[in-house]
Amino acid sequence: MSGTEVDLFVIGGGSAGVRAARIAARHGAKVMMAEEYRVGGTCVIRGCVPKKLFVYAARFAHDLEDMAGFGWNVEGATFDWPTLIANKDREIARLESIYRANAQAAGAEIVNSRAVLDGPEAVRILATGEVVKARHVLVATGAHPALGPAIPGCELAITSNDAFHLKTLPKRILVQGGGYIAVEFACMFRALGCEVSLVQRADVILRGFDDEVRSHLATEMEHSGIRMLCGRTLSSIEKTAGGKKVHLSDGTELEVDEVMLAIGRIPNTRDMGLEAAGVALDDVGAVKVDATSQTSVPSIYAVGDVTNRVNLTPIAIREGHAVADSLFGGKPWTVDHALVATAVFSDPEVGTVGLTEAAARKQGRALDIYKTSFRPLKATLSGRQSRMFMKLVVEQGSEKVLGVHIVGPDAGEMIQLAAVAVGMGATKADFDRTVAVHPTSAEELVTLREKAA
Ligand code: NDP
Repeated sequence: MSGTEVDLFVIGGGSAGVRAARIAARHGAKVMMAEEYRVGGTCVIRGCVPKKLFVYAARFAHDLEDMAGFGWNVEGATFDWPTLIANKDREIARLESIYRANAQAAGAEIVNSRAVLDGPEAVRILATGEVVKARHVLVATGAHPALGPAIPGCELAITSNDAFHLKTLPKRILVQGGGYIAVEFACMFRALGCEVSLVQRADVILRGFDDEVRSHLATEMEHSGIRMLCGRTLSSIEKTAGGKKVHLSDGTELEVDEVMLAIGRIPNTRDMGLEAAGVALDDVGAVKVDATSQTSVPSIYAVGDVTNRVNLTPIAIREGHAVADSLFGGKPWTVDHALVATAVFSDPEVGTVGLTEAAARKQGRALDIYKTSFRPLKATLSGRQSRMFMKLVVEQGSEKVLGVHIVGPDAGEMIQLAAVAVGMGATKADFDRTVAVHPTSAEELVTLREKAA
């Protein structure tokens, strides 16, 4: 033991850890935070932020196609992948230094090392061997990409971590998975001109989303040229002279340049000293916590993806903030995981909040469904065939809007505001009373009159 004592030791400098460290330090706590890689974590370094920058890059490809219908001549436009990667890397480095500086400015000490538990109130810093005594420990170590079953040639596949650093844009890519990451990357690669095959074991992408959202997006992706190979998995990958040959479970063979796995993420709990300290894990290895994010050991808390609750950055940030306020700010609060809006930055985008129709029916609720599918105004001149889809799930009797589901341009921006209304318990009459903003796509949300079911 070095003699160093802190009020809070945060293991992991991602979104959740940095927020907790910063707020706890601002409340006057002595805080140390260890990060073995780069401060910012998955979201900033190899997740949400660089992904969205890639998505912007991909959307320019559509803009270039759409412009002709509005009179623009854009012949000769070219795309350079290394420029995108270099500019993205520069922005991520800038954000990382801001994260680091903000935590330090608040008074938290950052240690550049892996750190593991050395008992319920002690953390070992591996770079120095120092053991720090901590009144409270916060585990905020995130998760890493799952690689699935070890199939022959699996070492030839990449994950989203590697996709952010590809030297060249692959001409042909196979993406395995049907969740957020697979869908977002498949759409992004396709818009940038790659030949894309999406292999997934289910029949439709995006399990857990509203069924009509899933089928609408799947159709749109197919129309964009993505080869949707459902109900199958990868059996093997082999290196060939020209790339990689992939064998699928139904006997299909494909020749591609890259294979990317996006089949979920695994909580980072291995070799952390958690079990030895008495911290209970669940059957996927996530840290078990209560509503206050406290683990089975009273001095140890856990937040973010390592707890595998709602694996979204804004939730992780709130969980970290709540722990810091509760332990050191004299104002205990907990995060409501019930009504969380989310967006998938696919092409077209998905925005969703509240219950899906299937989930609401499963709860035994009587429903009115309002929905529409239309070509956005911009598409009339651009000629783009893509259609927008919107759906309101409304409870009969109370008339409460239980769910809003949107597929189309800016769905993520729209759903943020719809989430305020749904969170306040808005009824269909509240939506109807709201004057439309014209001409927009969002106005359809307040002009839906005909019940679809
Ligand atoms: P998801 O859990 O969203 O999806 C995993 C996908 O992989 C599912 O389609 C699943 O199929 C499939 N799968 C799982 N295991 C296997 C296997 N062994 N073989 C074949 N397919 C398999 O995980 P992601 O990796 O896409 O994303 C991880 C998390 O990151 C998400 O939970 C999300 O919360 C977060 N994220 C959020 C984003 C956003 O907010 N826009 C963007 C990116 C990530 P099945 O459905 O059949 O189980």
